Amino acid sequence: MLCTKLGACHLSTGDIFRAAKALDACDRTPALTAALQYMRRGDLVPDETVLALVAERVGCLQCQGGFLLDGFPRTVGQAEALEALLKKHKLQLDAVVSYELPIEKVVARLSGRRTCPGCKAVFHIEARPPKIEGICDHCGGKLYQREDDRPESVRVRIDAYEKSTAPLADFYGVRRLLRSVPAEGAPEEICARTLRALQNGVAR
Ligand code: AMP
Repeated sequence: MLCTKLGACHLSTGDIFRAAKALDACDRTPALTAALQYMRRGDLVPDETVLALVAERVGCLQCQGGFLLDGFPRTVGQAEALEALLKKHKLQLDAVVSYELPIEKVVARLSGRRTCPGCKAVFHIEARPPKIEGICDHCGGKLYQREDDRPESVRVRIDAYEKSTAPLADFYGVRRLLRSVPAEGAPEEICARTLRALQNGVAR
């Protein structure tokens, strides 16, 4: 939604890993095969692998409409490497969005999420159920639950967030780039709130 409104190029490191899952095992590099195991458990993929994949897609960052990084960076090491990459290509970040939601709501959202493998539409079994159970409203694809949305992986993801990703709030706070956005409500409301935060440029 944000990318459509902003006309920006979307680069999601999680999407890159999910696309790699669909490849034949022999078409994956050993680093990607290992990355998928980290992902399945809910652990962060090592910085080196993530950074190599982002560097390969630097063209996306040079998109005329700008770029939106989704799920990257997730560690201070990645943020430092991103800073160097952007500097090298004479690019810069306008803002960093941090969505704020109580942990129990995060868990409820993740565990009820169902995704379409075809068009990537996202549903929720309670908050946004598809018209026909298990079937995507938009393209008729068969909805699935991401492996890392299962309770045992969600616990690991939350730990990884606390330990490795939460420190980025300070990292971007001191650079005056951080925009904290409450993530309560429907996706459309959150999108509108995000656009307002980006326009107002209110830093935390
Ligand atoms: P996401 O779709 O952004 O929720 O990412 C799904 C999973 O992919 C994460 O739980 C990690 O295992 C892996 N992943 C995605 N982006 C990164 C990143 N920037 N650093 C490390 N691991 C990542």
